[in-house]
Amino acid sequence: MARYTGPVCRLCRREGVKLFLKTDRCFTGKCSFDRRPTPPGQHGQGRRSKQTDYGLHLREKQKTRRIYGVLEGQFRGYFVEAKRRKGVTGEQLLRILESRLDNIVFRLGFAGNRIEARQLVRHGHFLVNNRRVDIPSFQCKAGDVIALASKSRDSLKFKSLIDNLGLRPVPAWLQLDQEGCKGTVLHLPARDEIDVQVAEHLIVELYSR
Ligand code: SF4
Repeated sequence: MARYTGPVCRLCRREGVKLFLKTDRCFTGKCSFDRRPTPPGQHGQGRRSKQTDYGLHLREKQKTRRIYGVLEGQFRGYFVEAKRRKGVTGEQLLRILESRLDNIVFRLGFAGNRIEARQLVRHGHFLVNNRRVDIPSFQCKAGDVIALASKSRDSLKFKSLIDNLGLRPVPAWLQLDQEGCKGTVLHLPARDEIDVQVAEHLIVELYSR
């Protein structure tokens, strides 16, 4: 599946909000958005034009897509699946996004951001229920055990990654076994367990037009 490969700080400036797409830099004075919070491009320096109702809905969708690193086609597919499921569509959409293997690898603390998590998964460093899975969009379910492959665990490259495990809080719907370099999905997250600041109902309204 294709992915965005351009400069990520540009995406924060485009959405007018910090998306935390990098690791340490997002929390330092080097953050591009903190230094220049205007939209990117030649005409971005001026004032932001008044946003239309459609623009408001569109920006919320784009923001969510960019946080999780999902392209339009796949995101729309997730919406169709969320609508098919029982319950509140917006919440189901976020649940599907949170269930992606790359997101869970990030949430467990194996990577500093979702971009890095995606790359680690792609390179086959993770097992789901003892089977190697190299598909970042793989949907995990309750009870799944996500583990760093033993071969990767022994590599020098992963030493700092393992040392950093447990430094970041792990959400309550996941359980991290630091010693075993693995994590378990206890249950799929409820809306209040997802800390992403998006108004998902605006996305539902956008796609329902
Ligand atoms: Fe966004 Fe992080 Fe870049 Fe700041 S440093 S603009 S928060 S990706």
